[in-house]
Amino acid sequence: MTDWTRRKFFFSTLGAALAASTQRLFGATSSASAPGVFAARPAAASDFRPIIISSANGVTHLDDGMAILKSGGDTLDAALAVVTKVEDDPNDDSVGYGGLPNEDGVVELDASVMHGPTHRAGAVASVQKIKNPSLVAKAVMEKTNHVFIVGSGALQFAEDEGFIPMNLLTERSRIAWLAWKAQSSENWRPGLDSPQWKAQLATLLDTPEKMAWREHIEQVVAHPITGTINCLAVNSKGEVSGTTTTSGLSWKIAGRVGDSPVIGAGLFVDNEVGGAGSTGRGEENIKISGGHTIVEMMRRGSSPTDACLEALHRVARNYQAFPERLKQFHIQFYALNKHGEYGAGSLWGKHPNGARVQYAVHDGTKAQLLPTTPLFDEVGGDY
Ligand code: ASP
Repeated sequence: MTDWTRRKFFFSTLGAALAASTQRLFGATSSASAPGVFAARPAAASDFRPIIISSANGVTHLDDGMAILKSGGDTLDAALAVVTKVEDDPNDDSVGYGGLPNEDGVVELDASVMHGPTHRAGAVASVQKIKNPSLVAKAVMEKTNHVFIVGSGALQFAEDEGFIPMNLLTERSRIAWLAWKAQSSENWRPGLDSPQWKAQLATLLDTPEKMAWREHIEQVVAHPITGTINCLAVNSKGEVSGTTTTSGLSWKIAGRVGDSPVIGAGLFVDNEVGGAGSTGRGEENIKISGGHTIVEMMRRGSSPTDACLEALHRVARNYQAFPERLKQFHIQFYALNKHGEYGAGSLWGKHPNGARVQYAVHDGTKAQLLPTTPLFDEVGGDY
């Protein structure tokens, strides 16, 4: 099949609504130019730094990161100041403490860091009991001769480094997990002889406080959530660092690792160019090495937004034979270059609840949420 035939097939199947985005599929980004050396561009007076960006769930903490950047602090410390707040937050159930568990009810966390000025990286995956895997990833980078440590080895390393193990499963996440099990198997529901037969969730939500969780729990059971925080920072010297941290896909098979800790996928930083990261369905990102792809696109002249869209083209292209399946999932990319230019792209313009997909930016004056640039300006799924 020629390229053109493939494109026609894709669009006729995906439907007219998406056809408006033809120029965004399969082609190189408009601003991509011949290979060049990004750092050759001289610093311009218009360069606007420091800048810190993150996925939307970081917006309330970007001030902390910006304060570090403004006081001359390190770019990775700035990014970590943002994401550790989200890791500590029991109400963000996609990251750190309170993260939704795997199918066995165990919270397993993944994280990565890259420090641009020293060209170093660290990552951990499937780490249990430690609420700040981003800091463990930093310790891997700083204290070992390795880049990536996983599973029981990562927990042992963290404990050796003085991280305190704890139970990461909050009561709300535990009940959400039980509700998911009840939906998946009748063995986990009140039996035929029970007065509460079929009243699955009601038996779990047995106090007024827990009853307030009903809507949220029904939502995460019906649509297993992904969620993560990626944060990228550039300081006034043009130094760039980043981090990505997550509890990954809820109800995952034990040991499943997404893109967040994978250097080159969920995070990539090259201090000569900038950084990129991702949230959403990690399996799709791993297949296109999104973080690395975006940084290389920026190196060749793409704007951060165009580079994110190019990565999204590649995700979409992998579904050209099954365009309707694209609708099942969401994926977002974030990018920041060393001049302080930033952007974000999302596969879909809106979440299943109709809310526009956003990301967070602090430009030195204030933190705000901005819409991502969607590949398709429609509602997509959260699978
Ligand atoms: N990317 C993460 C993963 O696949 C999850 C997410 O961002 O929603 O593990």
